[in-house]
Amino acid sequence: MEHQTISSMEAAALTPNVIAHELAHQWFGDKITCRNWQNIWLNEGFASYAEAVYTEAVNGQSGYTATINSFMSSARSARGSIYVQDITNFANIFSSSRTYAKGATVLHMLRGIVGDSTFYRIMRTYAASPTVAYQTAVTEDFQAIAQQVSGRNLDPFFKQWIYGEGYPTYRTTITSATSATAVTVRLEQRNTVSSNPASFTMPVQMWVQSASGDTIITVLNNQADQTFTLPARGSVTGVVVDPNNWILKTVESTTVVTGLSEPTPIDLRIYPNPASETLSVNFSLSSASPVTLSLTNLLGQQVRTVNEPTLVTGPHTRTMSLRGLARGQYTVTIETQTGKQSRVVLLQ
Ligand SMILES: [Zn+2]
Repeated sequence: MEHQTISSMEAAALTPNVIAHELAHQWFGDKITCRNWQNIWLNEGFASYAEAVYTEAVNGQSGYTATINSFMSSARSARGSIYVQDITNFANIFSSSRTYAKGATVLHMLRGIVGDSTFYRIMRTYAASPTVAYQTAVTEDFQAIAQQVSGRNLDPFFKQWIYGEGYPTYRTTITSATSATAVTVRLEQRNTVSSNPASFTMPVQMWVQSASGDTIITVLNNQADQTFTLPARGSVTGVVVDPNNWILKTVESTTVVTGLSEPTPIDLRIYPNPASETLSVNFSLSSASPVTLSLTNLLGQQVRTVNEPTLVTGPHTRTMSLRGLARGQYTVTIETQTGKQSRVVLLQ
């Protein structure tokens, strides 16, 4: 139990986490006291979050992650809003899953949205603000400071997480073509009936995985059923929703559907064929793309290469010199963002 300037702890409670928690109350609880029981999360959610900050400081990312995961698993069983509706009952005010665990995950989610440096600037500004320091505070005081420091409108965030109930349950359906440079992700919220709002608004990170490299893209999910088209580096093998676990959520299922939209073949013509001195390569692009033209011998060696960083939609012609090449059979290949096409040419 914290008291101004001193914590009192029984011997069995003398663990680093409890010490960190009670110490944090010197700022969040004692220096700034919740104005009423409805806003008790400003004491207990903050002191609980300090436990995660402590484990991060001594055990690094893995310590932080473990503490947040345990708060999240408890927070999923929370009933009612963090803003305590019924203050006639002690256990209801000091609910460990709602006031402590879910309260702590709200600060974790805020950190995910605004980033580390802004988050700690918000916390320091709040702790020092003359409007609340050595006084009392309600959620709106903290929200006002978080908004002013971050320059963001956090109204939907605080409404849904402090006054709402539950958390989002995501279902994703991923569709990608075999050699595509884009992937579509349908994100559906399949929230429980008690969830309020019916659908949550959150920035959601998507980890797009492909054989040629991974990328993390953040989308704003503000509808119950929404489809996003994300850039990919090649054939997509998977998409992970919220890979860094910034959101209190569950992921119901992820379905991957591939090869539904194969790219249209590129119209490629070469002449003359057989050729002798030069070869004319004609092709048409259905969308703007970087283009690589290559001439390969029977040994698989590229003997000519033409790189075009960006070509516009429509027909194009390039000329390849064949001078100095041995007679025989060669393959002309065009490669664009959406696919590949080859023709055989005979050199006489
Ligand atoms: Zn406490």
